[in-house]
Amino acid sequence: MSKIPVYKPFIDEQERKNVLDCLDTGWISSLGKYIPMFEQQFADYCGKKYGVATSNGTNALHMALKSLAIGVGDEVVVPALSFIATTNAVLYTNAKPIFVDSEMETWNIDPSLIENKITKRTKAIIAVHLYGQPVRIKLIKSIAKKHGLFLIEDAAEAHGAECNGKKVGSYGDISCFSFYGNKVITTGEGGMCLTNDRKVYEKLRMLRDHGMSKTVRYWHPEMGYNYRMTNIQAAIGLAQLKKIDMFIQNKRQIATWYDRELADVPGIVLPPRTKWAKSVYWLYSILITPECRIGRDGLMKKLHDCGVDTRPLFIPNHRMPYIIMKNHDRFYVAETLSKTGINLPSYPMLTEKEVKYVAACIKKYCR
Ligand SMILES: *Cc1c(COP(=O)(O)O)cnc(C)c1O
Repeated sequence: MSKIPVYKPFIDEQERKNVLDCLDTGWISSLGKYIPMFEQQFADYCGKKYGVATSNGTNALHMALKSLAIGVGDEVVVPALSFIATTNAVLYTNAKPIFVDSEMETWNIDPSLIENKITKRTKAIIAVHLYGQPVRIKLIKSIAKKHGLFLIEDAAEAHGAECNGKKVGSYGDISCFSFYGNKVITTGEGGMCLTNDRKVYEKLRMLRDHGMSKTVRYWHPEMGYNYRMTNIQAAIGLAQLKKIDMFIQNKRQIATWYDRELADVPGIVLPPRTKWAKSVYWLYSILITPECRIGRDGLMKKLHDCGVDTRPLFIPNHRMPYIIMKNHDRFYVAETLSKTGINLPSYPMLTEKEVKYVAACIKKYCR
């Protein structure tokens, strides 16, 4: 076991109390008071009307696409660089993911490259806010509007981050979140779709519950799924939500410590920082340039020996063996980020002393 992990959730008496309430009252499945409470309070927090909680973030993305009737023959624009769930959700619907390169300024999808990829078959854009740093969502929203496309936000890594003064997740037709164990807030496994559209909301609820009619029991007008969240998960989520401001404040503090310690280290590029957005630094991440002689993988090994756990950045999704691309697009920025990036320990209770220790290990080997 590493001395300093990349992540560990912070759980206290509030989660324990809520979970025990579920156990003591018997409401342990997907009915119970905590589910609508968590949905409403999380939707309020993000600035959307309706929330539909799900069993995980991948299902939230899949259900979002299905609720917009996206399927065979359709194309969905996605960033080449994301966690694989973004692309897989598109594949589950039998639509085609259309990959777009990243930009160095945000490490997210480069909006200037999107319009070139739009065809008559394009139905939606999934904008992902990677590692807590918002994508240029206003620009992407205007592109979506101009071409009559749906906008889905994948905000699984950016709960509470802000873009032009508004929370991420407030921009998309549907916004999807994950509450996996290492996300900004967690329910163990879990996810949520947010929307302002009443019809979409009802459709999502139906898809989540086997596609069952609201009025006729055991009548299923279309094929749905079992993507429900349990009351126990929601009970944990509600307790986590009470602490979200503290988590984010801590994570921003951790980022300023890392920034300070690593600012002048040769071979290290600090994470994106833009005037129009406020990152939540889900995972504080750096790039390793050739100036750091031992290279990205070498540095990760040395950090491991120091007892510091790290992760490489994601691998661009188009590289996976089961993904077939007819054209031969190259994604230079996504590839560069993927080959040179490291996620550093970023859990909300990380101390200044620990950050200094991590930075000292990096400095020792990057000179
Ligand atoms: C975590 C994550 C998801 C999926 O969430 P799960 O809850 O693990 O299914 C989707 N997209 C991104 C960008 C993520 O980081």
